[in-house]
Parts: sequence; structure tokens; C-alpha cells
Amino acid sequence: MGARDKLRNYFISNVGKVLKTQRLRNVAGISEYGRRIRELRDLEGFQIKTHVDRADLKPGEYILETLDQKPIISRSISPQLRNEILERNGYTCQLCGAGPGDPDPFNPHRKVRLHIDHITPVSQGGIDDKDNLRVLCSACNQGRSNVQTPTETALNIIAKIRKLPKSGQREIFGILKRKFEIKA
Ligand SMILES: [Zn+2]
Repeated sequence: MGARDKLRNYFISNVGKVLKTQRLRNVAGISEYGRRIRELRDLEGFQIKTHVDRADLKPGEYILETLDQKPIISRSISPQLRNEILERNGYTCQLCGAGPGDPDPFNPHRKVRLHIDHITPVSQGGIDDKDNLRVLCSACNQGRSNVQTPTETALNIIAKIRKLPKSGQREIFGILKRKFEIKA
């Protein structure tokens, strides 16, 4: 059982009681118990309060007020992290290879937009970690695209091409066109 699971069980079986840091650290078995408690609060909606929320609590005291979980408010990813993921994925959808402004495969009058997607969904405990984030286009993000996913090699090369200025992209297009165009 992971630290977060142990803490969740402990809070649930002590609902309404003030719990102290020392005990929670022992239950979690790790020094990062504070982070796991924040995840229970922010990712799972458990109403765990501290001295920041309640004047009657001292620093280092926690209380799970109720077993009711608040609906999760989807937290926005910071602009820095968003840019980092976009840059890393070369502004390219990691499922279909689309880039910003490419036509929406299901609505040619619209263009796809890029989203930052959680690989493990937040509802299943996925966090805003670089390893858990990737770029998806609006079509794939809504599960509408059924385009065959390009190979990783192709995705990497598309990402590189997309970073070139338009003239460079045209040059590559021209080369491939000459190579593959069927001559009448
Ligand atoms: Zn896509």
C-alpha cells in the first residue's frame, strides 16, 4: 500500500479527530507525508484542514472534517510548465501528430487546438508532473480522432520540422513531394 493510501485510510478512520504530524509521518512511513496529504486534499477532494484554515488548530495539526469529498476543481497547469511540455513535444499531438492550426479531422472548417493532457487522469490520481503530461490536439483530447498514431520516430521528426520556419518546412515538403509524387 502506498503512503497516500495509508494516510487516506488513517484519516477516514479518524474522521473529526485532530491528528498530529508525528503520527501522520509514522502512518505514511515517509518524510513526504505533507505532499501526500496535499494530494488527498487537492486531487481527491478530502476536506483535510490545517491551522491555515482553522484558528483552533496549531501548526502540525490536521483534521479530516467530513467523509464528503469536494468535487475536484481542475487546477490549471502553470504557463511555464505548459510551455515546457509544448516545447518538449514539439507543439505536436502525441496521438495523431497534428500541430496547432492543422485542420480538425472531423470538422474541416475548424482548426485543432493543442491541450496539455494528463496521461494518468487526475481523477485516477494523476498529478501535474512532467512525466504525466503530454500534448494532445483538441480532436484527440475529446477522443474523436481515430487517426493511426504515428511511430515515435515520425512524431520526433514532425516535432523538429514544426520548429522550423515556414520556409524550411516548405523545403522539406518540396523534397518529399518530389520523391513521392506520382508522375503522370
Ligand atoms: Zn491529435
